[in-house]
Amino acid sequence: MKISVIGTGYVGLVTGTCLAETGNEVICVDIDKAKVEKMRNGIVPIYEPHLDVLFERNIKANRLKFTTSLEEGLDHGDIIFLALPTPEDEDGSADLSYVLNVSEEIGKKIKEYKVIVDKSTVPVGTAEKVHSVIAKNASCEFDVVSNPEFLREGFAVDDFLKPERIVVGSSSERATALMKKLYSPFVRSGNPIIIMDEKSAELTKYAANSFLATKITFMNEIANYCEKVGADVDMVRAGMGTDSRIGKRFLFPGIGYGGSCFPKDVKALQKAGKDVDYDFKILNSVIEINSAQKTILLPKIESYFKNDLKGKNIAIWGLAFKPETDDIREAPSIDMMEALLAKGAKLQVFDPEAMPNIEKRFGNKLNYSESMYAALENADALLICTEWSIFRTPNFSKLNQLLKQPIIFDGRNLYNVNEIEAEGFTYISIGRKATN
Ligand code: NAD
Repeated sequence: MKISVIGTGYVGLVTGTCLAETGNEVICVDIDKAKVEKMRNGIVPIYEPHLDVLFERNIKANRLKFTTSLEEGLDHGDIIFLALPTPEDEDGSADLSYVLNVSEEIGKKIKEYKVIVDKSTVPVGTAEKVHSVIAKNASCEFDVVSNPEFLREGFAVDDFLKPERIVVGSSSERATALMKKLYSPFVRSGNPIIIMDEKSAELTKYAANSFLATKITFMNEIANYCEKVGADVDMVRAGMGTDSRIGKRFLFPGIGYGGSCFPKDVKALQKAGKDVDYDFKILNSVIEINSAQKTILLPKIESYFKNDLKGKNIAIWGLAFKPETDDIREAPSIDMMEALLAKGAKLQVFDPEAMPNIEKRFGNKLNYSESMYAALENADALLICTEWSIFRTPNFSKLNQLLKQPIIFDGRNLYNVNEIEAEGFTYISIGRKATN
C-alpha cells in the first residue's frame, strides 16, 4: 500500500519505518529541513533501539523516503498518517494547531480519495474537527480515522511490530477495511484490532495514559507513606503485584513520571473534563502529587548537607525521562537540576543518550561528563534520576573511591538497601529505609 506519514518524530518515524518493513511504500514528511536532510543521508535523528536497522534496510529497498513537501506526501499516500505534535497549551489543553493547520492544507491539496489517520494523541471530538476542516476545501471523498498510538519510547519498534492491540476509531466501512488490511501483518499472533467510534478511540488513549500515571502516582504515595511508618515499599510492591487484579507492572515508585506523553495527556484530560463541567478529581491529585514527587529528594539532600548546597559538587546519573531514550521532555532530572542549581550546587552529569538534548537546554550551567565514573570525580554525592541498565551494577569500590564521601540519593531504587549498606554507602532512596 502507499502510505504517507506527516511528522517524523518518535511516533511518525517509527510508524513510517515499521510500515515500510511490511512492504508498504512510505513517504515521511517533516517541516524540519535539517531533520529531513539527515534522514535522507541515512541518519536516524532520534535514539530508539533497533530503529536504525529497519531504517537502513527500508531506505535501501526504496520503500522509505523523506521529504519536506506536504504536497508530495499527499499525492503519494492512499493512507495519510498525522503524527504531529499536540503539546500542552497554556490552559493545559492539547494544542491542536499542528493537526488542524495540516488538515487545512490537506483539504486544499488532495485530489482523490484518502484516509486521513490521526495518530497524534488528541481530545475527544478532534476527528470531527479534522473532518470539517478538510471538508471546507476538499473536492474529493475522504475519511478521517482515529488510530491512537500506544508505543513506548525505548521499546517503540517492538511495540509497533507486535502491538498488544490496535485501536481504530472509524465510522466508514471503506476506511476500516483499509486499516485492517494495513495492520493485518502486525496482529498475526491474534492480538486484536479493536474497531470503535472515533470519540471512544480518542478517549481510549487519554484513559490509558491517565490510568498508568495514576498507578505510578499511587505507588509513589504508598512509598512516601512507607518512609513515615518504617515499611518497605519493595515488600509492599511484591505483595501487591502478585495479585493478578493489580499486576506487577507500573508499581515501581520513584521521583515521578515525566516524558512527552503522561504529563500533557493527564492535564489535557483534566482540562477536557473541565470544559464539559466534569471535575476529574483523581487527575487533579495525580498532577499535584507528581509535581511534588519530582523534587522529593531535594529536602533529603539539603538536610544531609545541613542546608548548605553552595559549591557542593553533585554527580547526576541519568537525565532522560526514562531509560533507553534520549527524550528529556518533562524529565524529573530537569526539576531536580533546576532546584539544585538554584541552591548553588554544581552539577556533573552523565546520561548514555540524552546529554545533547540536556546541553541544548542547560548550556554551560552543567558539567557534562564522558562516562558515569567521570561524573563522580570530586563529587560530594551521587544522585540517580533515570534507571539506565548500566547504573544497576556499578563497581561500588570505584564509586567509593571517586566520591568524596560515599553517599547516594537514588530516585529510582536501583540497589538493594542491605547490600549497599554493606558496601559502606549512605543510601537514600524512595519508600525504603535510609542507611547511614
Ligand atoms: P515529536 O515532537 O517527536 O515529533 C513531531 C514531528 O512533527 C517533528 O519532527 C516536527 O518537526 C514535525 N512537524 C511539526 N509540524 C509539522 C508540519 N506542519 N508538517 C510536518 N511535520 C511537522 O512528537 P512525537 O513524540 O512523535 O508525538 C507525536 C504525537 O504522538 C503526539 O500527539 C504525542 O502525544 C503522540 N504520542 C507520542 C508517543 C511517544 O512516546 N512519543 C506515544 C504515543 C503517542
